[in-house]
Amino acid sequence: MSKVSKSEIREFTDQARAWFRENIPPQPDFLLPETFMEVGTDQQFEYLRDWQRKVYEAGYIGISWPREYGGGGASQIFQDIATREMSAQRAPFMPNTIGLNWAGPLILKMGSEADKLKYIKNILSAEDIWCQGFSEPEAGSDLGNTQCFARKDGDDYVVNGSKIWTSLGTYARYMILLARTSRDASSKYAGLRFFLAPMKIDGIDPRPIQKLTGEYGFCQTFFDEARIPSDCLMGSEGDGWRTAMVTLTFERGASGGQAGGTSMMELNVNDVLELARRSKRNGRPAIEDTYVREQLVSFIIESKGNQLMNARAEEPALLGEWPSAIPLSGKLRNTELRRRLTKFSLSLMGGNGGRYVSREAIDFGKWQRSYLNSFSATIGGGTSEIQRNIIGERVLGLPKD
Ligand SMILES: Cc1cc2nc3c(=O)[nH]c(=O)nc-3n(C[C@H](O)[C@H](O)[C@H](O)COP(=O)(O)OP(=O)(O)OC[C@H]3O[C@@H](n4cnc5c(N)ncnc54)[C@H](O)[C@@H]3O)c2cc1C
Repeated sequence: MSKVSKSEIREFTDQARAWFRENIPPQPDFLLPETFMEVGTDQQFEYLRDWQRKVYEAGYIGISWPREYGGGGASQIFQDIATREMSAQRAPFMPNTIGLNWAGPLILKMGSEADKLKYIKNILSAEDIWCQGFSEPEAGSDLGNTQCFARKDGDDYVVNGSKIWTSLGTYARYMILLARTSRDASSKYAGLRFFLAPMKIDGIDPRPIQKLTGEYGFCQTFFDEARIPSDCLMGSEGDGWRTAMVTLTFERGASGGQAGGTSMMELNVNDVLELARRSKRNGRPAIEDTYVREQLVSFIIESKGNQLMNARAEEPALLGEWPSAIPLSGKLRNTELRRRLTKFSLSLMGGNGGRYVSREAIDFGKWQRSYLNSFSATIGGGTSEIQRNIIGERVLGLPKD
C-alpha cells in the first residue's frame, strides 16, 4: 500500500470530524446502554444498529478491510483517525462489536474465500450480528474444559450442551462457537472444533440473564440437538483450540485488523472532574478539597498515560521487541482504571453514592450503573488475573507457577 501523506491525513481528519459533528444522532428518549455487553432492549438495539449502518455507509468503519469483501481497502491510519474522532465526539458505539473486532478479523485471517464473501460485508453493515459461544458454566478461564458436544451425523454436526454469558445472544444471527467433537483425543485441547454457527435454527435457545444493574445483555444459550451444517466448520480437525486462541488475540487487542469503531460510551475522567465541581465536601465544592484533588490528578495522569500507550500501539516503530505487549496490557490497564474511577465517583456523592434505583439518585443513577458495569470488562474476554498471568508469562518471561 502506498505511503499516506500528511496532507491526506489532514484532509481525512477534517472530513471525518465534520461528518461526525453533523451526523451523530440526538440522544434518544430512552436510556442507552454503556457498552455492547448491555444491549438489552429492541429499542436500544435498533437505534445502535441504525447508527452502525450509517457509519459504514459513510465509509468510517472497515476502512482497512479488503474492498472485495465490503471494506474500504485503505490504510489503517485512516481507521485509527475515524475511531478516535468517534470517541472524541462521544458517538454511540457499534453494537456488532464481536463481529467487527474478533469474528471479522478471524474470518479474514483464517476463513475460506466463501466465508469472506458470505460474512464480512454484513458484519460491517450490522445486517448480521455476531455473538461468541466460548464460556460454559464449567469452562471460563479454563476454556479447554469446553464440554458442549458436537456429534457428527451425516453432513451435519448435532450440538448439545450450553454456553453462558453470551453477549448479544438474542440479537445474533451467527455465533463463533467452540465445541467438543471428541472425548478420546490425546489432550482436552485436541478434541475441540470451531464453528461459524447459525443462531436462528431449531434447537438453539438463548435465554437472557439479568445483570447486577437490572439490565439485560447476555444469555445462557442452550443447544438441544441443534443441527449445524459441516460447512460451518472453520479450520481442520483438531484445529479448534488454535482458532479459539487466535480469536482471543483479536479480542484482547493483541492483533491488529479490527474494523474500528467504538464499543462503549462509558464515563471518563473528564466526567468525574465535572462531578467533583458540583459535589460538596465539608460544605465546599469537592474539587477544592486536597484529598479529592490528589485523587483526580492521579486519575488524569493515569488516563493520559493509557491514551498515550494506545497511541503508541499504533506506531510499529515504538512497539519494541514484543509488539503485542502494549495492546495486551491495554485491556488490563483501561478496565481496572475504569473500575477505580467509577468507584471514586460514588465516593464524591457521600451518602447518595448508594442511591441507584431511586428518585433521589444523582443524574438518574448513571454513576452507580457505570460502577456496577465496570466489573464486566475486567471479567469478559479474560479476567484481570488471567491477563496478569499472560503478561507475566508471555511478555515478562516469568515462570508459569
Ligand atoms: C459482561 C460479560 C460479558 C461476557 N460475554 C461473553 C461472551 O459474549 N461470550 C463468552 O463466551 N463469554 C463471555 N463472558 C464470559 C467471560 O469470558 C468469563 O466470565 C471469563 O472468562 C471468566 O470465566 P468464569 O466466569 O468461568 O470465571 P472462572 O474462570 O471460574 O474464574 C473465577 C475466578 O478465579 C480466577 N482464576 C481462574 N483461573 C485462574 C488462574 N489460572 N490464575 C489466577 N486466577 C484465576 C478468575 O480470575 C476469577 O476471579 C462474559 C463475561 C462478562 C462478565
